[in-house]
Amino acid sequence: MDKKDLLSLTVEEIEELLISMNEKKFRGKQIFEWINKGVKNFDDMTNLSKSLREKLKENTYITNVQIKEKLISDIDGTTKYLFLLDDYNIIEGVVMKYKHGLTACISTQVGCAMGCTFCASTLEGLVRNLRAGEMIDQILTMQEDIGERISNIVLMGSGEPLNNLKETVNFLKIVNDEKGLNIGNRHITLSTSGLVPQIKELADLQIPINLAISLHASNDDLRKRTMPIAKKYSINELINSCQYYINKTNRRITFEYALIKGFNDRDQDANELSNLLKGMLCHVNLIPVNSVEERGYMKPNMKDIKRFQNILHKSGIEATIRREMGSDINAACGQLRRKYLQNEQK
Ligand code: SAH
Repeated sequence: MDKKDLLSLTVEEIEELLISMNEKKFRGKQIFEWINKGVKNFDDMTNLSKSLREKLKENTYITNVQIKEKLISDIDGTTKYLFLLDDYNIIEGVVMKYKHGLTACISTQVGCAMGCTFCASTLEGLVRNLRAGEMIDQILTMQEDIGERISNIVLMGSGEPLNNLKETVNFLKIVNDEKGLNIGNRHITLSTSGLVPQIKELADLQIPINLAISLHASNDDLRKRTMPIAKKYSINELINSCQYYINKTNRRITFEYALIKGFNDRDQDANELSNLLKGMLCHVNLIPVNSVEERGYMKPNMKDIKRFQNILHKSGIEATIRREMGSDINAACGQLRRKYLQNEQK
């Protein structure tokens, strides 16, 4: 498709496009406002002339992420969506209800290339990158469906956001724009499996979002067994890039650590993790692993998780245990899409 997806463009990019079409620059803001409200039909943009609307129809389009399926958890109201994209690919997103408001978890790619052994999103490999507009529209679609403002975003659905850096950065600019969804950088968390050069690039852009690192092990040997990316970048290089991010942005880093029974949940692992992170402006998020049937990974019992947390606390490292949400509806990464694809193949 040669036509430009307007929803993937920042205000400045829409303005440039208009100038190249011999139109007035100020129309850019008007168009940006319409599309970031979820308007899909150019004829509904009542402050634009008919001739401009026709020109837009000819040269551009507005991506449309549609709800294919929706599941609501009886336990906590977590809502999981399967979305259908313009090219019939399927992705998933989740809305979680917290006291402080709604948090949307969105996908950044169709599938994923990272190959982490515990993650269902990667089992079918990477299909393609999402455009910024497809990330925005996941939020617009969920917000409209629920009828309540989404106030926090986590890029923790399918895909590796830093493997799709250009579109992800455009997404961050668009979602933060006060004429758009106007979601503050501090309300946005980007999670990465740890692509070192891209972490530095992101730091240099100085967009003060929260950065979360999927660490999941405290030494390279162990990490390599579940995360292929660990063969490319050592934990040392990863930690150095995190320190660089902290220096540039003054933001505290979150380290995600999925606890797998008998694999990375021993006292020696907690001690090693403490030594690794001591003195750093950071926080550890302990996640009881969501079991993936194919791999035989199990979560430790709560007593062992608390013991792990205590060892970190004693070393002065802040650590929280992530509450499980939507466990009755396959709310974990890639599980629902995978089920859907498996049923399609039957
Ligand atoms: N690719 C990015 C973001 C997507 S995954 C990343 O790797 O960070 C979001 C988080 O869920 C990551 O921390 C990921 O490691 C974690 N995750 C994936 N599968 C999981 C599972 N079965 N149990 C617990 N956490 C899992």
